[in-house]
Amino acid sequence: MRILIPAINNNDPPAAVALRAEGLEPEVWNVGINAKAYSKILFEYWNDHEGFIVVEHDIIPWPGALEKLWACKQLWCGHSYPLHAQGLFGGYLGCTKFSAELCDTYPKVMNRAWEESWQKIDGYVLTELRKLTGNDCFHLHFPPCAHIRELPKLSEMNKRLLNETLPPSPNIPGYYKKLMGK
Ligand SMILES: [Zn+2]
Repeated sequence: MRILIPAINNNDPPAAVALRAEGLEPEVWNVGINAKAYSKILFEYWNDHEGFIVVEHDIIPWPGALEKLWACKQLWCGHSYPLHAQGLFGGYLGCTKFSAELCDTYPKVMNRAWEESWQKIDGYVLTELRKLTGNDCFHLHFPPCAHIRELPKLSEMNKRLLNETLPPSPNIPGYYKKLMGK
């Protein structure tokens, strides 16, 4: 199984730490060096005829998640993950398998894409594969993966919920006595 993790600096990304913990050996590339580095590394992997799974640096697949993708006979597979606190997204490059057969069947997908900046590459690949395969999304596997960048939004949500629930200057012992009906 070949796993590509595009990282934004030379630090060990969370995705790599999680995957190594289950004995996998992801290949980590620093694509923070310029705006097109991400697209260029995807181009290289696409043309290696081996197939690969791309896991973005802040996605945490559950143990066994990538094995399921790799073992699946479908050519284009992936997991969804939470994004922008709006819901589950899939089809982009967070956790996606491109099989060797897919890369060989559609060799031109990356021919223009390697000129794209990192902000556009996920949408570009998705649009191209939709046109070429006739599928709206990849073969979706369950359950979804975790996405670390959602954590600050979740903590904001928790704060808001707490503020709405608790009195403005909570007298905590008094508040709980009230809750307990004492
Ligand atoms: Zn699949």
